[in-house]
Amino acid sequence: RAKSQGKARYEVFDRRMHAAAVRRLQIETDLRRAVANGELRLAYQPVVRLDTGRIVGFEALVRWEHPEHGTILPGDFIPVAEETGQIVQIGRWVMDEACRVLAGWQLSAPRGDAPLTMAVNVSANQFLQTDIVDQVDQCLRKHGLPPGSVMLEITESLLIDKAEVVAETLRALRALGVQLHLDDFGTGYSSLAYLERFPIDVVKIDRSFVHGMQDEPRRARFVAGIAAFARSLGVGVVAEGVDSPAQPALLRDLGCQYAQGYLFARPLPAEDAERLLGADCIAGT
Ligand code: C2E
Ligand code: MG
Ligand code: MG
Ligand code: MG
Repeated sequence: RAKSQGKARYEVFDRRMHAAAVRRLQIETDLRRAVANGELRLAYQPVVRLDTGRIVGFEALVRWEHPEHGTILPGDFIPVAEETGQIVQIGRWVMDEACRVLAGWQLSAPRGDAPLTMAVNVSANQFLQTDIVDQVDQCLRKHGLPPGSVMLEITESLLIDKAEVVAETLRALRALGVQLHLDDFGTGYSSLAYLERFPIDVVKIDRSFVHGMQDEPRRARFVAGIAAFARSLGVGVVAEGVDSPAQPALLRDLGCQYAQGYLFARPLPAEDAERLLGADCIAGT
């Protein structure tokens, strides 16, 4: 009896594995025409300066409008795209589209001395598989952007392997004037060491440290520690996942200059994001 039960369980597991494999293959196949068919789009989440409440820029977040399955979030297709190499084509599209939109906004909502910024996520495989320096350089020229207005968000996973090559590429990007942001900061294995070894301009404190920090003194101390450490190195700090009205003042007091999260706005379609630029100060600060 035990044996047959074990077998039944194995079959259930096997069927589930099969379903997952089929789904993955489907994503892989469909993804191949997603860029060509114009099924990808970008959502834009504002980044807010905590002392003024003003929007300083946006983070571009990719979405896939699948003709049958509706909107698919990046967590469900970026990992597949990374494995298959499709991330190179997708990443190229994301970079070009984000720069095109930013150039339009810089004209429609001029900011004087500090031009509006756009942060673009670059995954490790995309970074390592392309000539990212040339790609970014050409994109900036094509859209006539001041280099300092584009940020690349990388994660610690990129810094683990091939440290020498990566450091060299990061220095070349920085020489172009592009800012480098370390995303999901604090979730990796040796976050602090990376700040010493790589030319990082800004760390984005992962939302797991921000969520609930107003009720968790230990979590708040952690944010304070990162902010103090970053500041001592001349590195900027963005808090991710700000979702409570109690957080902006707290974060400001702890030394974070910038924040992003559902409290201010969810990632928005371009038209809605552009409308926010008209306001002097975003609700929530
Ligand atoms: P990320 O770069 O850390 O982006 C932040 C994620 O947190 C976004 O999820 C955003 O919608 C979500 N978020 C923002 N504020 C809040 C909040 O207050 N509460 C909560 N619970 N969540 C919040 P999204 O858009 O699903 O993106 C997930 C991840 O996918 C991103 O994490 C990034 O690593 C990756 N990704 C997104 N777009 C791209 C892209 O164009 N290229 C690459 N390579 N990766 C991308
Ligand atoms: Mg990011
Ligand atoms: Mg992040
Ligand atoms: Mg994150």
